[in-house]
Amino acid sequence: MNRDFNLERLVRANVLKMKPYSSARDEYKTDGRKMTFLDANENPFENGVNRYPDPQQGKVKEVLASQKGVPVSKILLGNGSDEVLDLIFRAFCQPQVDNVISLPPTYGMYKVLAGLNEIEDREVVLTLGFQPDVEAILQKTDEQTKLIFLCSPNNPTGNSFSESSVEKILKSFNGLVIIDEAYIDFSTERSWLERLQEFPNLVITQTLSKAYGLAGIRLGICYASEEIISVLNKIKPPYNVNELTQQRALKRLSGPEEVNREVQTILQERELLRTNLSKMPFVKEIFPSDANFLLVRVEDAGEKYEELLEAGVVVRNRSNQQLCENTLRFTVGTPEENKELLKKLTQLTA
Ligand SMILES: *Cc1c(COP(=O)(O)O)cnc(C)c1O
Repeated sequence: MNRDFNLERLVRANVLKMKPYSSARDEYKTDGRKMTFLDANENPFENGVNRYPDPQQGKVKEVLASQKGVPVSKILLGNGSDEVLDLIFRAFCQPQVDNVISLPPTYGMYKVLAGLNEIEDREVVLTLGFQPDVEAILQKTDEQTKLIFLCSPNNPTGNSFSESSVEKILKSFNGLVIIDEAYIDFSTERSWLERLQEFPNLVITQTLSKAYGLAGIRLGICYASEEIISVLNKIKPPYNVNELTQQRALKRLSGPEEVNREVQTILQERELLRTNLSKMPFVKEIFPSDANFLLVRVEDAGEKYEELLEAGVVVRNRSNQQLCENTLRFTVGTPEENKELLKKLTQLTA
């Protein structure tokens, strides 16, 4: 265990002192009686969304709690995981004083949010096998290091971080360790959710944007100790997850078979893409993937990227990221889209 962990020491002083804003919907909690609501200055004429949404998203959290085996008190929802990550910065990082650690090549939002919040982002590049360099990470930490971001499976490399490396970081670092599991539903590795209760400094973020197919509704999920969730609840905007999003999320979560079917198809298609890509003469390396995309090293990524655009296919050129020279990131599409991609790639080489 992490014996020196002290959450109060990590929270920004102003946040520690704050009382949460109490909205009309926070103050009156329904007890099942039919009430007349004249408390929130809403337009009273019903149209389905004339009322403010549930600020605690109780129904969505209850479904997540039962599906993931985590109590509601350890869940916070946000307007995408990007909002959740921003709340974590704002709750724990003092601008111009504190620092965080991220491990490039990785998801770009950690750096953007660090910049926005005036927090130093200390980068510790992944090893050549795209694993965390645990010793170098721990050496980079000091008294002002509040957060370490681990993205597993990692974007854009696609691999998962080894359980022993992550565990070492969780046990040795006294700030918060944020494990971004945006792609966990595509992975063969188990989620860190199963070990949430072991680590008081563990924060896990997930999202409905990828496997669940709901990028457009913006729903991000944060799992952490009750104490950490209470801090984040104090500073979150009261109605940060809108009513339409809550309804749509509930509908999708209540049909997990469809999500599973789609994920299985995506995984089969990913392997089909891998097989076919590996036969192409300009493909140098296809990295292992636990996600719904493949990072591929090619000959002249810039040229291939432009030629694909010309042919009407948009992929991501990741070549300017560390360790990713001449790489393209292909998101797995529908079977038809993948066939089209492969056909167009063959035409490029011809
Ligand atoms: C796509 C992605 C997210 C998703 O963010 P949302 O705001 O929930 O859409 C988070 N983290 C990583 C690493 C991603 O690639």
